[in-house]
Amino acid sequence: MLVRPDRAIVRFSEIALKGGNRRMFEDILQRNLKCALGGRDAPRVRRAWGRFVVGPVEDAALAARIAARVFGVSSVSVGVLLESSQPIAPAAAGLVGAWLADRPGEGPVSFRVTARRADKRTALTSQDVARAVGEALRSAHPRLVARMKGPELTVGIDVRAEGTYLFLDKEKGVGGLPVDSQAKVMTLLSGGIDSPVAAWLAMKRGCRVDFCHVDSFPFTGTRSVDKVLRLAGLLNRWQGRTRCWVVPFANVQVAVKEAPPADYRTVVYRRFMTRIACRLAAREECLALVTGDSIGQVASQTLENIAAADACADRPVLRPLVALDKEEIIAQAQRIGTFAVSIEPHDDCCTVFQPENPAVRAKAHWIERVESQLDVEGLVSEAVEKTRAMRYLPDPEPSHPWGLVRAAAERAADLPLD
Ligand code: ATP
Ligand code: MG
Repeated sequence: MLVRPDRAIVRFSEIALKGGNRRMFEDILQRNLKCALGGRDAPRVRRAWGRFVVGPVEDAALAARIAARVFGVSSVSVGVLLESSQPIAPAAAGLVGAWLADRPGEGPVSFRVTARRADKRTALTSQDVARAVGEALRSAHPRLVARMKGPELTVGIDVRAEGTYLFLDKEKGVGGLPVDSQAKVMTLLSGGIDSPVAAWLAMKRGCRVDFCHVDSFPFTGTRSVDKVLRLAGLLNRWQGRTRCWVVPFANVQVAVKEAPPADYRTVVYRRFMTRIACRLAAREECLALVTGDSIGQVASQTLENIAAADACADRPVLRPLVALDKEEIIAQAQRIGTFAVSIEPHDDCCTVFQPENPAVRAKAHWIERVESQLDVEGLVSEAVEKTRAMRYLPDPEPSHPWGLVRAAAERAADLPLD
């Protein structure tokens, strides 16, 4: 008789280290798991012995795959929960039978049984249980060959007061800390490869990310914003409830164009972006900015220019990619699913009115010379006032293997601020 798994077992590691805060971290992770698994329609997510048990659920493998992509989760398995009085071996044989049925073939399959017993009321030791179940499995499924090191299949048994958990197929989770376990941040999102990766890394450390995109329309087409919103939509899958602020930047750029010297335009744009993003961050209670800069990657990302931009920030500017090579960033973008959209062609706001030789090592007195010709405060306030919000909501269908939220920006509603 085949036994289909109807539970996902979800483990976490780092949050278990958080001492007195542990309970809070677990509450947040539980909420995020529920959100990822379908919000109100999610299966039950129950705390049990320092893990979460999801289910009963029809497709435990899908639930496990979704849970594995929630930040804070270290590994997942699928399994069943037996009543204490139920014999373990036949259920284990049925569960392994279903696993083998999905992997047809004749060849041998190496396996191992591990057992743990929190409920010590029974006379058998953990080893006794593991050995007995191992033998029963071998006689039920002749393809199985015992192997202690690196087997293809591990059958886990956990004997608890509330019943016995049987589980298979440990798969690594994404790790990190649950989103919302740290303060919010404002990520400067361009249409490129880097900033989506930077945003993802900030989420991985437990920050909820709001996005701020600086838009040069009409000097750039509407396709640029469209692309950025699609990227925000993809990233939304990793946290749910994302907001993206779109800042009109054309007036700033026209004003800067009138203020020589021209080679300072790029760094002055960058300073305006920082000021505007800080203003939005203050309003939205984001404690830091995040950018996709990495040192020396392009001319505008020299330490001198980074310092010039940060000089107008009133909060920390985090740069998760600061030491990564482009190849490493690209590999990460591919893993998290943003690369294909990032490489679509788009107009870059920073290249609007770009001088032939942008200043590579900006000097403070030249920056001052440019900005003294401008109504900096007026331009910043105007841009902030005209900023629009796009918001993404949890996906009503948790059918996507990344579970979280309504993904595609095409479906995003342009909602009024709340
Ligand atoms: P990316 O791939 O993220 O676009 P990049 O290598 O093209 O980065 P720059 O264009 O110099 O580098 O941008 C550096 C950082 O500045 C970006 O990672 C992003 O955080 C921010 N940024 C650039 N352009 C914009 C924009 N139009 N709106 C918001 N943030 C931007
Ligand atoms: Mg860019």
